[in-house]
Amino acid sequence: MHVVFIIVSIVAILLIISTIVLMVSPKLRGKMLSKQFESMRYMLDESKNDIAKLGNTSINIKKQILDDNEETLTEIAKKEAKIKSFGIKNAAKAVKEGLTESDSIYCKYCGSEIDSDSKYCKKCGKEQ
Ligand SMILES: [Zn+2]
Repeated sequence: MHVVFIIVSIVAILLIISTIVLMVSPKLRGKMLSKQFESMRYMLDESKNDIAKLGNTSINIKKQILDDNEETLTEIAKKEAKIKSFGIKNAAKAVKEGLTESDSIYCKYCGSEIDSDSKYCKKCGKEQ
């Protein structure tokens, strides 16, 4: 029990010291980082084929899904296009209405807003 306690405290002290040294010394930190990069590059080099295989598999799965559901996906795309064009038409209509709205004129006599195509003022009834 006593021995375990000593070992654990020695390990903890070493960890603290190494953390402090790493915090203080940028050179050591850089060395550790470059070692990490090196190991990462080694790992990527080693698993190049696996990564390529994974990519191919995902492409094949995607192709399979597209092939199997072509009809449904086409239908969905058509529906989406319909909804989008409906939205665009509505937006264009709103813009057009907004533009014509700003065409409205004001009464020469009382100054209230009236439609550009109406002959008489709604408020005072005078002819424009
Ligand atoms: Zn008026």
